[in-house]
Amino acid sequence: MHLPFCPYICPYCDFAKWPLRRSQADRYLAALETEIAAVPDFRATTLFLGGGTPNTYAPDRIAALVGLLRARFALPAGAEVTIELNPDLELCEGFAAYRAAGIDRASFGVQSFVLEELRTLGRRHTPGDVAEAVRRVRDAGFANVSLDLIFAVPGQTVASWRQSLDAALALEPEHISTYGLTVEEGTPYARWFEREPGRFTSQDIEAELYAEAIERLTGAGYEQYEISNFAKPGRRSAHNANYWANGEYLGLGVGAASYLGGVRSVRTRDLSAYCDAALAGVPVPVEAEQLTGDARTGEAVMLALRTAEGVELAAFAERYAVDFGERYREVLEEMRTAGMLEVTTTHVRLTARGRFVANDVCAAFVAPA
Ligand code: SF4
Repeated sequence: MHLPFCPYICPYCDFAKWPLRRSQADRYLAALETEIAAVPDFRATTLFLGGGTPNTYAPDRIAALVGLLRARFALPAGAEVTIELNPDLELCEGFAAYRAAGIDRASFGVQSFVLEELRTLGRRHTPGDVAEAVRRVRDAGFANVSLDLIFAVPGQTVASWRQSLDAALALEPEHISTYGLTVEEGTPYARWFEREPGRFTSQDIEAELYAEAIERLTGAGYEQYEISNFAKPGRRSAHNANYWANGEYLGLGVGAASYLGGVRSVRTRDLSAYCDAALAGVPVPVEAEQLTGDARTGEAVMLALRTAEGVELAAFAERYAVDFGERYREVLEEMRTAGMLEVTTTHVRLTARGRFVANDVCAAFVAPA
């Protein structure tokens, strides 16, 4: 469920998002509710409210939305329900209403615990705000908290990254995600990069920062269960695990992606077009692509390789009717010899070294030679 409004816009961000205007946000919620009523029947096992900044909406409105979703998609009691939160304290009120609505996982967009880096990223909160926001969700009864951090921020050093990792660990979250900053086309960061490429982190330093995250977080008892994700035992995100298992999902809202019946689709990123269509009760414009053959299996491999378990060969053969070893013989051999993949009789997974170039390794399976 995409809630696309933000109190301000970060210069690196490429999501479908808009600065908050109340009238627009109200109209969007009405459109979303109409779309929820109109989509075909679907049984959900998890729910994720992402953004944007979902907590730009008042907690009672979020609670009402979750109630609607629960009823419409037959969400079982106790299902994982996540909300993404901006730790800006003005937006961190009324968390008890989230818990009462059955939201049980709070995921904060922290990004850094170093004030200078937060300002470079255009974020307005302070490290102290994050600690207070986490205290508030804990007080409201949340037993499952996740913190997102960004590395390779311009100006970041190994020492300052360590400071962020340690500050995150001190708050004892159940889950931590670490993402390398990417410069996305069309963003203010892309223009900055054109002007001053030297201010941005080199690939070597980025690899060093990633290695530091793995060492620090696994050393503190977190399991690296996916390239960017670390969890305490039993605290993996069930919602994200479904994406990596190439499972089906329904995305609702402007710019939201779905994967249903072998078809990947993305709803329009045009906010007015989305609201106009949903409110008029006509189908929201989507771009759709049916994944078949190599495209379908390549995508499945790419997703599975991101996880700690990698590709489980027997399950893969059963689901896709493809002998993995046969189909990908050449690329497997090439990547294994290069030390990027570990190949056993039951699994194929990235090696510690392979994780540093995961995108390249995965790409080789999406379009194998
Ligand atoms: S708060 Fe999140 S979604 Fe909004 S602009 Fe910043 S990074 Fe993008």
